[in-house]
Amino acid sequence: MCTWRNVETKQFEREKLDFVECKNATKMGWRGQNIYNSEQATALPVIRLDLTVLSRSPNPTYLKHIKAIIVNEFSSHTLCYTDGSKSGTRTGYAFSISGVITQYRLRNCASLFSAELLAIYSCLSYLSLLPPPHKFFLLFDSFSSLQAMQAPHSPNPIVQRILILLHSLSSSSSSCAFLWIPGHIDLPDHDEVDFAAEQSLLFDPSLSPAYDFKTYYRFFITSSWHNTWRTQPLTKLRSIKKAPTPWSSSNPTSHHEEIIISRLRIGYTRLIHSYLLLELYSPPSCRCCHADEITVPHFFSCPSLQNLRISFSVPSLLSSALSDDSETITNTLNFLRSTYFFKSI
Ligand SMILES: [Zn+2]
Repeated sequence: MCTWRNVETKQFEREKLDFVECKNATKMGWRGQNIYNSEQATALPVIRLDLTVLSRSPNPTYLKHIKAIIVNEFSSHTLCYTDGSKSGTRTGYAFSISGVITQYRLRNCASLFSAELLAIYSCLSYLSLLPPPHKFFLLFDSFSSLQAMQAPHSPNPIVQRILILLHSLSSSSSSCAFLWIPGHIDLPDHDEVDFAAEQSLLFDPSLSPAYDFKTYYRFFITSSWHNTWRTQPLTKLRSIKKAPTPWSSSNPTSHHEEIIISRLRIGYTRLIHSYLLLELYSPPSCRCCHADEITVPHFFSCPSLQNLRISFSVPSLLSSALSDDSETITNTLNFLRSTYFFKSI
């Protein structure tokens, strides 16, 4: 029986195999060479950055330069454009080869960065099927993709596949050059691909890169954790810690002090609660002001220790005295060290 879960599992397994295959292929190259040791294979793609020096120019200036580059240097090349799109949770991409547009929607977990890279990878995959030799000129507007493609040992599986495809094209005497262009400069061919990428968001999703699942599920787990924290009853710890994030004030160099601060934050100390183990009738009273049933908040509000506490710049409010601030925590520990409370926490 083919259930949705089975399909999901098979798809995930297939993507996992693809990922492993890609990692192995990356190490060994497309014909079994170790491309890390191959001078030819580690050659990075030629990406023209002519337009980066024209920052904030009017669109006609960009268009004039692009036209000049194509006419003067790449007039015999097949022109290709790629673009990714993300709106809300939906992600997709499109590319064109000689004006023929292809578009795909990815799963919602896919990032825009992956969509931009997959647009380039898919375009190169199509180009690799054409009979060699061939010359291609690919224009794209993703600066992050540009940077990623210039890292020969990038851990990103899509980047590695792009580099392997370029190596494959180069080996079959085909050549591929890239030009980075700014987005939305009224370049008709690129605008068509941009529109197609946006339209792809209306399609059913296709496969997404496996590593995007990590970010996607990490987000859901973290959101669920935060939601659980927010909706639980107001405990002593939650009144101090508003969100389940790491304490920057934690002091790993002193385990003992960390234990003391943790006990104060959750409101349970030997001084206050040992009477339960000793089967005594009631909590102890304060030795300083003789108040009955001492509690952790009393450590900071005891009237007899007010001057001492102020001298250490410790606030009287428990949530402030134990807040996630290193200086405050240091002051609080110094203050408590000067009282009889400290040894019984
Ligand atoms: Zn007191």
